[in-house]
Amino acid sequence: MNKGIQSLIKLFNTTSRSIEPFVPLAEGKVSLYACGPTVYSYAHIGNMRTYVFEDVLRRTLEAKGYDVQHVMNITDVGHLQSDADTGDDKMSLAAEREQKSPWDIAKYYENAFFRHSEMLGIKRPTIVCRATDHIQEMIDMVDTLLGKGYAYTSGGNVYFDVSKFPQYADFALLKLEQQKSTDRAEHDDRKRNQQDFALWFSQSKFPNQIMKWDSPWGVGFPGWHIECSAMARKYLGDRIDIHCGGIDHIPVHHTNEIAQSECCIDHKWVNIWMHGAFLTVDAGKMSKSKGSTLTMDTLAKDGYHPLAYRYLLLGTHYRGELKFSYNALSSAATAYASLFEKVQEWLLETENSKTEKADLSAAAINYSSSFWNAMSNDLHSPTALSVLWTTVKADDITSLEKLELVREFDNVLGLGLFSVFRNDLSDDEKAILESRDLARAEKNWSESDKLRDELLQKGIQIRDTKEGTQWVRIIAPRNKL
Ligand code: AMP
Ligand code: ZN
Repeated sequence: MNKGIQSLIKLFNTTSRSIEPFVPLAEGKVSLYACGPTVYSYAHIGNMRTYVFEDVLRRTLEAKGYDVQHVMNITDVGHLQSDADTGDDKMSLAAEREQKSPWDIAKYYENAFFRHSEMLGIKRPTIVCRATDHIQEMIDMVDTLLGKGYAYTSGGNVYFDVSKFPQYADFALLKLEQQKSTDRAEHDDRKRNQQDFALWFSQSKFPNQIMKWDSPWGVGFPGWHIECSAMARKYLGDRIDIHCGGIDHIPVHHTNEIAQSECCIDHKWVNIWMHGAFLTVDAGKMSKSKGSTLTMDTLAKDGYHPLAYRYLLLGTHYRGELKFSYNALSSAATAYASLFEKVQEWLLETENSKTEKADLSAAAINYSSSFWNAMSNDLHSPTALSVLWTTVKADDITSLEKLELVREFDNVLGLGLFSVFRNDLSDDEKAILESRDLARAEKNWSESDKLRDELLQKGIQIRDTKEGTQWVRIIAPRNKL
């Protein structure tokens, strides 16, 4: 992809429910805000699906030459059991469960989140911001909303008054009257309208709250939604190109973020809202709070390479629901491993060739265009993956061209196809390699083939050259798949 061209990319905008051409606010730049994890337990593989989608979005924009400012929050306070104002505080519950302080809980699960992100090849956001480090910014925003008459204090809490923002229901196409009698069952006498949501909780909500701060309205803690509005404003300003999250955020969290931000700044806030569909399991929605969770550690323990899971995710468009099964993961892992091995083979094949970076032939340029057409069409990764395979199998381009194209595609898909680990062999592995050399010297081909397979089972691929046996450690050992 020629950087600087920034050719057209079309993205589905939840606001208009349609695919629109992406036009950045500032030329060559993209401000991207993604709602981050609530760090009260491990992120499950469903959560990670949303972060992979956001990573692919970022990588696509970057490959198109944009300078992407990717901001992600860490919710380490204020998220109650429901996304609305009901239930207990998730951090406090975890602290009780694990007999640790909420601060230790947050630190532990934040680290685990980034470890899992790294396993999945997810780039670290340009800015990661913790809610607890931005309490003053939240207080300032709540203060502005009170000053403008969009919020009110009641019973020690501060609430946003949804009746003051007539467009409140538009984003999620909500039917407010219906909602009153359904999902927000816990009646709160302090609220003027039951759809109003808390901007600041004083001690009235949880008398034993450990994480609390002084505020003009009493000691307490912020509501979850104000966290994102305040941090997005601090790091990205009053207009944002793209804001993302999972689809569950549309009716409550993002609806509330829009209300409070737009009332604060008096104009449209976000140009494109993007939402990733859910990963489900047989039992339905995968949910941290229900405990029905598979994590990246579970998949690794079960013998799957994390990037095989990423490969599985890319096979479904981010707006389509994906039902997880180990069968599907196994097929993805097999396909991923052969892709990986193919690339490693070409690397070995071309390692000693002194050829300069080749000008791509017309056929190769065609493959590249097909790939970019797919990704520019609302990040259509399933089509992009099939273009990748067609490229791999093509007989009208050279191995060097294939390598160049696959490198370009992998930069966007993030499958780590070029991660080669040239660490030392273990004594055991060295012994097998030496036995194989001996078998070859004795022209004992069946023994040498057997030992070659044994090494492959251990994730070591070899190639016989005039200079001797070369080896490479591949990251997707076949015996695990
Ligand atoms: P949380 O840590 O619960 O705030 O969620 C982190 C991110 O994961 C949010 O963007 C959610 O919308 C998203 N999410 C939650 N459950 C799923 C799921 N089953 N599949 C995909 N994304 C999810
Ligand atoms: Zn958010």
